[in-house]
Parts: sequence; structure tokens; C-alpha cells
Amino acid sequence: MKHALVVGAGVAGCSAALELARCGTSVTILERSSRVGGKVLSYCCKATDSCSRCGVCIAHETIAEAIRHPKIRLLTNAKIESADDSGARFSTKVTVSGPRIDLRACIDCGKCLDACPQKAISRYSRAGLVQYSVDISACNLSNRRECTLCAKACPVDAIDASSRMQAMRISADGVLVATGHETFDPVVKPRLGYRRLPGVMTGFEAEQALSGKLDLGGSSVAFVQCVGSRDPSLCRNFCSSICCAYALRMARVLKTRNPGADVTVYYIDIQHFDKVQSSFRAGVERAGVKLVRGIPSSVSPSGGRVEITIDDPATGSTTALHDTVVLSVGMQPADGAEDIAGVFGLGRSEFGFFDAAAGRVRAAGTCVEPQGMIEAMASGRAAALELSGGAR
Ligand SMILES: Cc1cc2nc3c(=O)[nH]c(=O)nc-3n(C[C@H](O)[C@H](O)[C@H](O)COP(=O)(O)OP(=O)(O)OC[C@H]3O[C@@H](n4cnc5c(N)ncnc54)[C@H](O)[C@@H]3O)c2cc1C
Repeated sequence: MKHALVVGAGVAGCSAALELARCGTSVTILERSSRVGGKVLSYCCKATDSCSRCGVCIAHETIAEAIRHPKIRLLTNAKIESADDSGARFSTKVTVSGPRIDLRACIDCGKCLDACPQKAISRYSRAGLVQYSVDISACNLSNRRECTLCAKACPVDAIDASSRMQAMRISADGVLVATGHETFDPVVKPRLGYRRLPGVMTGFEAEQALSGKLDLGGSSVAFVQCVGSRDPSLCRNFCSSICCAYALRMARVLKTRNPGADVTVYYIDIQHFDKVQSSFRAGVERAGVKLVRGIPSSVSPSGGRVEITIDDPATGSTTALHDTVVLSVGMQPADGAEDIAGVFGLGRSEFGFFDAAAGRVRAAGTCVEPQGMIEAMASGRAAALELSGGAR
């Protein structure tokens, strides 16, 4: 296969692109946001005295490798308008907004950061991955003002600020869709207090918070599992498969950083997530994290803290007080998945996740089903091999 199009630059898309590139295929990755990497960029490392195999560092290495690979072209702030399938090739119409930064050419001198009058350019650096990105909502050029200051400041001509929006057509022999997921919005379960009570946050927000600081606030933290997963009342009767892993890992991090803290995980049943899961779980409990079977039916304010009520048909209702409640939110297909499915002719499951294949189109990662990063990377590589094998 000569040229492939990958839609979505999360770990699944980057892994797929790398595999295709290793097979000699040139690849264009289209990413609708300003950054390469997807959700992984927001997660904390969950190592304590030992690695917890959360995958965050490996994912960063993969993303950095995709950025550097000479056969991979990355277009961020890109929007797919349409795709025509001639039977032999796809011709995809795309618009790319704002200045374009060639991440491979970038030498990380930081001059564009100083030059931008709107501070629309930011630098992300972690675990060997360095990337600059443009927030197009703040950029002068995108707001119909003439501005080439970032491009002029770049000593290696890595920034193209010649047009506000560029329309292009990309021809490809095969397409790999890796548009990922969004997290469930717990506002639709008002009894859990999200956006109503201070101290109630999502697992995604807890990940972001723990990337930047040592704790989540307060000396008593509760994790509530299966929020937006395994819930027939919301027509979401599927397991998001990753929430037990991220909650237990974060609970262990909190308990290790602050041994005096009270950390409790409320669960229906702990899902298998790793071949060393049973010893990991035992280690979490040994560290002092409490695992309590039962899912809270409501979270309410109580004297500056939050009170959790757990209904158990056998024992009745019990309550517990905490300072912080982390709702372990599950996954759902990314916004706009329906449009992408329509553009590339992909079928969808009853929960909206993509079928893995349709003709010369493959899908991989969490847009196909909920999974962790390591599985998403493996799924991207497998789909890439299938695509290049199938189109040879
Ligand atoms: C709270 C939480 C914590 C987690 N913690 C862990 C953990 O510790 N370890 C672990 O292994 N897994 C964890 N996971 C799972 C992890 O997030 C996923 O496995 C991983 O992000 C999957 O990568 P992906 O590439 O499939 O999707 P994503 O990371 O969602 O990336 C998809 C990319 O596609 C882009 N995109 C979407 N639509 C379009 C479009 N129409 N056009 C162009 N681009 C598009 C998006 O902008 C994004 O960049 C966690 C999940 C959650 C919800």
C-alpha cells in the first residue's frame, strides 16, 4: 500500500501509523484537536515504589515516535468534510485551520511562544514527548486578523502561517479510523452530585489533577465505580473495562503519597485488567485502600463534606462521609462518531462503537470498544497490518 489515511492521533492512531510506516506505507494522520496523543496526554503516571503498568510512559514514547517518523505527516486542527471512494482509492476532503506547525522540523527553541501576542501557542513536554500546538480559538490568524509573527520567529521555518484555513484533498489506498472515545458525563445522574457539590469530580479530572499535584484535596477520598457503565437504566449495559484499573491505581498512588488518608473504592465487582491483577489488588489492599462492595445511590452535602448512601437490599442503607468523591466514568464513542461512520461506511454497534472493518477501512482503539492504552496500541498495530495485507 502506497498511502494510508489515519483519522485520530491518539495512541491507537499513532501505533497504527507507525506500523503502516514500518511496512513502507506513507501515512497522513488527521487530528481534529490541536495536539497529537488523545486522552493519554491528560493522565498521571501511577507508579508508586513500583511501576503499576498503567501504560502512560509507553504511550508517550509511541506518540513521540510517530511525530518523528519521516513517513508520517501529521495534520492537527483538521476537519474531514467528505470522502469519495473510487473503488481503488479514497479521496478525502479536509480543512485545516490556523497556522500549521511541522512537529518533526521543530527544534523546541520556544521562540514562537514568545512571539505569539495572544499566547495561543503552548508547549507540552513529558516522557520524551515534546510538542507545540496552536489554540485556534485564540490565534489572530484564525480570528481573521493578519498575523505571521510565530512563523517569522521560527528559525527553522517549521510554522506555516500563510493561510487561516486550508482546504486540501488527500488520496489514500486505505483508511484507518481511530477516533477514540469521550468519557461519560455524570451530569445525567444528578443524584451523584457532579457539578452540584464541591468535592465531586470525574476520574478524568482526578487524572488531570494528580498529574499536577500530590492529592485530590481532603483526607478522605472515595472512588465510585461503574458510573455510566453496566447501567441498563441509561441503555449503557456494557463494561468500560478500564475504570477498575485506573481507580485502583490512583487509589494506591493517593494512599502511598499520604498513608494517613482514608481511601475507599465502592464497586460492583472488580474487573480483570491485567495478568498480575490479583497480586496488584492484594497490594492495593495491603497499602490500606478499602474495597467496599456496593454502589452509592446518592451523594449529598453534609457539613462541608459529602455523604455517600449505599442501598443494599440485604442489609438496608448505609452511609459514609468523605471529602472528595471520584466518579469512575466509563467510555462512549467520540463526539461526531456518527458522521465519521457515515463518511467511511463503517457500521456501529448498539452502543455506537464502530465495527472493526468495512472494505478498505479499518477501525481500531477505543472507537471500536472500551479498552486500555496497551490494548488500544495493539489494536492499532493489528488493524494496520490487516489493512496493508488486505490492500497489497
Ligand atoms: C478516566 C480514564 C482514565 C484512564 N486511565 C488509563 C490508564 O491509566 N491506563 C490505560 O491503559 N488506559 C487508561 N484509560 C484508557 C485510555 O484513555 C484509552 O485506552 C486510550 O486513550 C485509547 O486511545 P485511542 O487512541 O483509542 O483514543 P483517544 O485517546 O480518545 O484518541 C482519539 C483521538 O482521535 C481524535 N479524533 C476524534 N474524532 C476525530 C475526528 N472526527 N477527526 C479527527 N480526529 C478525531 C481525538 O481528538 C483524539 O486525539 C483511561 C480512560 C479513562 C476514561
